[in-house]
Amino acid sequence: MATKTDTKRSQIMRAVKCKDTVPEMVVRRLVHSLGYRYRLHRNDLPGKPDLVFGPRRKLIFVHGCFWHGHTCKRGNRQPKTNANYWRKKIQVNKERDKSTLEELRARGWEILVLWECETRQETLRQRIDTFLRSTKQIASSSFSPGSRAPSADIVK
Ligand SMILES: [Zn+2]
Repeated sequence: MATKTDTKRSQIMRAVKCKDTVPEMVVRRLVHSLGYRYRLHRNDLPGKPDLVFGPRRKLIFVHGCFWHGHTCKRGNRQPKTNANYWRKKIQVNKERDKSTLEELRARGWEILVLWECETRQETLRQRIDTFLRSTKQIASSSFSPGSRAPSADIVK
């Protein structure tokens, strides 16, 4: 049986989670409009990166400021109820993020972490394009079927 507190908690959780998907959609649309191919949430990679650019060995994570403990206004917001519960949960998320990024970098991935609050900035498009365009360690430009997005058919 769910207590009143639990119900409230899951309501908050749903509300926050729902908002978190919006920044991800903003990023996906931008990346798509720039003409890059990507795959979503690859299960075989640590942390299930939000956007995966296989042939480029690049990943983009879109982090919700609250869930991932960003040092911005939204990230520092303290819930009125269950403050300890949330603090612990977010601390766990932050530690997990850190080790996930370390592991991915060790495997040779370049990573761009975009925070929710940054997806509202005008420079977002430029940042994404610069990140994906840089050719530090691209081995080949050959087409990889694995990186084909279901609906995207544009080649850059
Ligand atoms: Zn933020």
